[in-house]
Parts: sequence; structure tokens; C-alpha cells
Amino acid sequence: MKPIYNFSAGPAVLPKEVLQQAASEMLDWHGSGMSVMEMSHRGPEFMSILAQAQSDLRELLNVPSNYKILFLQGGGLGENAIIPMNLVGRKAQPATIDFIHTGSWSGKSIKEAKKYANVNVAASSESAGFDGVPDQGTWNLSADPAYVHLCTNETIDGVEYHFVPDVAARTNNAPLVADMSSHILSRVIDVSKYGVIFGGAQKNIGPAGLTLVIVREDLLGSALSICPSAFDWKNVSDNDSMYNTPPTYSIYIAGLVFQWLKRQGGVAAMEQQNIAKAKLLYDFLDSTDFYVTRVAKEYRSRMNVPFYLKDESLNAAFLSAAKEQGLLQLKGHKSVGGMRASIYNAMPIEGVQALVAFMREFARKAQL
Ligand SMILES: *Cc1c(COP(=O)(O)O)cnc(C)c1O
Repeated sequence: MKPIYNFSAGPAVLPKEVLQQAASEMLDWHGSGMSVMEMSHRGPEFMSILAQAQSDLRELLNVPSNYKILFLQGGGLGENAIIPMNLVGRKAQPATIDFIHTGSWSGKSIKEAKKYANVNVAASSESAGFDGVPDQGTWNLSADPAYVHLCTNETIDGVEYHFVPDVAARTNNAPLVADMSSHILSRVIDVSKYGVIFGGAQKNIGPAGLTLVIVREDLLGSALSICPSAFDWKNVSDNDSMYNTPPTYSIYIAGLVFQWLKRQGGVAAMEQQNIAKAKLLYDFLDSTDFYVTRVAKEYRSRMNVPFYLKDESLNAAFLSAAKEQGLLQLKGHKSVGGMRASIYNAMPIEGVQALVAFMREFARKAQL
């Protein structure tokens, strides 16, 4: 049987080992006689699952001790409202938030934040069709914003930051808030450079339903009075992500993924594999003019690779031939069209090799 490779942008492929372990523990977790789904979140079994997941994540990302790891719900988009409700109260009202607009997801964050603060779009690559990150020197930052928001990997547009912006001196030490939904754990990061890191789990961590927030302690405790208490990070932190029922099964699966990552050698080892996978695909795309990529080389995402067939009338044929080869979910996001290969941690290099071989053969046949 031909292997199946799933290139979905999210919810996305998970390591097979993790799914197998979850299957074997589905009815009876570690002799408890219960499925993880059936356990009280306040019982000793689930408490141990949560504590292990938190400490493994802290180890994997080398999260400093003055940062809290919160397990929430509401998704990446929910955080677009939850973040301003937690952070703008640190400044006189109305506060200003600075944004760097590099694609669809930072665009959505901008739209939502306008309900809670003045928004300054300090830089945008929109007029260039979101082909990269505007040069830092050109960012028109505010003197004293509540924070500076970035999406460090634009999942739809395929744009990734390969640097950490340095805005402190120009913004009265405003914290950087980064949406890392689609590349968290794919590369080594210096958490201490950020005030808040957040993301939905369903791209590179686990199942949908879990939202991760890593926040520097001194940023807690200023939530606006309109902030729902279940989303006030101080409440959540004081209750160790148990203020209300957390998404227990998603946390359990994420915990299995963290353990899998540790067995692979951790984030640094994963990053080397991700570099190799992305190089294989981009080198092929650069070698042909049958396929086209639009993002500038220095901002190309290692996780999400959008590409287009030069002759778009072949799109449907491309997708159905790919599916026949076991290469699934390659259709691009509806807002940008074309194709997209998402090659997250759980995608083995063999999957990218199979994709490149298929694309080469499809181009050869189409050009006969
Ligand atoms: C998927 C995604 C989101 C949205 O997440 P939801 O969980 O669907 O709300 C936000 N930001 C980025 C970068 C994403 O990739």
C-alpha cells in the first residue's frame, strides 16, 4: 500500500506514533479504568497529564522561569480579542497597539484589535502582495504602544520571520506579541525576546481546541473589566490553567506530541529536519517555471509553502492526480488560490520527496 502524506494547513498531520499510543490508551489510561476524556480535570490522573505537558513544553522551548505557560480555549482568533483585553490596560486609555501587517492572519488581528484600542499599522507588505516582511528600519512605530503585534509565520501567505525584531528602544520597551500558531516548536526561539507568544494547537502541536499562551509574568494583572474572567490570564495563571475546564483531551494529545519531540532530539533537531524539508521543496520550485512561488527568498516559510501552477487551468487535474498518489490536502487557501504544501514537524522528509517526485512527473507529462 502506498503511504499517505497529508499536507493540510490545519488541523494537520500528527505523528503516527502519537496516534497509535492514543489509540492504545483510548479506553483505559494507564490502568485507571478510564479514558482521558472521562476523567475529572481536577483528579490526580489528569493533573499529572497537565503538569507533565507543561514541564515538557517548558523544556522544549527553554521557557524562562518568569514566564507562565497557559492552556486556554478560543483559538488563535479568540486571542486576537483576548490579548488586547489583557494588555491595553497597562497604558492610559485609549491605548495604541502597533501591528506589522504581513498577511491574512496579522490582518485579522488588526481588525479585531480595533474594538479595544487605537491601532497603528507600523508597516505593511499588503501593496506588495504580502511577499515578505517590510525592512525593520522602515517600521513607523509609536512612541509608547501597549505592545507590538506580529504574526511570525503567515500560514496562508507563506511568509516567515527569520529574525527577532528589535523594537524596545523605539517603543518605550513595548513587549513583542507573536502569533506563532503555525511554526511554534519548528525552530529554536529565544522566548525572553517576547512578552507574549500564542497559538492555536492544531497546526504543529495537536488537535484543535487547545490554545497556547506563553506570557511574561509582569504582563499579568491588567485585564480590562470587560475581559471574561475565563480569559483573564492572571486568573488562568493563578489557577494553573484550571480556572474552568481546560480542553483535556487536546492537552493530553499535545503532551504526547511533546514527548515525541523529545524523542526526536528536541526542537533543535526538528529545526534541522525542517530546514532540509523546506530546501528540498523550494529548490525544486526554483528549478522549474512550470510552478511559481511569490514570496521573497529571505522570508519564505519553512512550514507553509504556497505555490501556483503557471497554467492554472491544470489546478483540478493536479489536485486529483496528487490525491491518487496519496498526497492529500494540497489545495491553497480560498483567499489566495493555487496550492499550498504544509510541511509541519510531523511531515517526514519522505513526504516532501514524494511530493517533489510527483510534481516533477506532473510537469513532465503536462509539457509533452
Ligand atoms: C490557524 C491560525 C490562526 C487561527 O486559529 P483558530 O484556532 O482557527 O482561531 C491564527 N493565526 C495563525 C497564524 C494561524 O495559522
